[in-house]
Amino acid sequence: MPGDVRAALSLARSLGLDRLDAQLLLAASLKQNRAWLISHDDAPLAPALAATLVEQMTQRAAGMPLAYLLGEQEFHGLLLTVTPDTLVPRADTETLVDWALELLVPMAGTPSLVDLGTGSGAIALAIKAGHPAAIVSAVDLSPAALTVAQGNAHRLGLDVAFMQGNWWQPLLGRRFDIIVSNPPYIAGGDPHLPALQHEPIGALSPGGDGLSDLLLLIEGAPAHLTKGGWLLLEHGYDQAPAVAEALSVRGFVDLGLRRDLGGQPRVSAGRWPS
Ligand code: GLN
Repeated sequence: MPGDVRAALSLARSLGLDRLDAQLLLAASLKQNRAWLISHDDAPLAPALAATLVEQMTQRAAGMPLAYLLGEQEFHGLLLTVTPDTLVPRADTETLVDWALELLVPMAGTPSLVDLGTGSGAIALAIKAGHPAAIVSAVDLSPAALTVAQGNAHRLGLDVAFMQGNWWQPLLGRRFDIIVSNPPYIAGGDPHLPALQHEPIGALSPGGDGLSDLLLLIEGAPAHLTKGGWLLLEHGYDQAPAVAEALSVRGFVDLGLRRDLGGQPRVSAGRWPS
């Protein structure tokens, strides 16, 4: 059992952990920041704390996302609670948030927006924070995820209406100026899936070619959009052509595509004609 900070960091190295991850775990368990940690190499670790830390480092070495071990993840300037019931919000998804915020700017009054498959609430909450005049709703199938999302909304003081249900089901008869979603889109046989085994599979992959939920959203969106309203969808790096085709066949116009931080085509949008 490591007796001080230096010993814990050296154990982390031998387990193959990133130094930054080890420092963040250690800082969180000591309730200190990294600056403190770096200048307190010889600070002692109580045995119980050291035992918990070794357990966490072992889990991290086995691929457990750091966000689950810390219980939080930063997204678009918000610090969100995340649990294994929710996907860990990705920086790539900030592309979707930024785009929605740009579309909201010229909309007068109190534009309405819904986030389908909200998970931790990341997208809905970041949009509400960035454009407080928007009336923001969010849907998820998972009650456990909604509990996390509601907790985030409460802690951040952001007014978002959360609803439980399967995609469009809780939205019967309602229309929105903007619909956004980061649905599960990874193909069932994708070689990246095993590395994501700690996250909820239902939030990552619909199976098959990964397109089924994207197509369901494109099919159903017109019944829930105001005239001239926008649908914004995050998708896989190779799914942009299929998404654009489906948007166009369904009657969407002004199609657009944006790339993520890594330069991959990541978010597609279409406008329902006015
Ligand atoms: N972008 C995530 C990943 O590749 C997947 C998110 C999703 O399926 N919606 O890890």
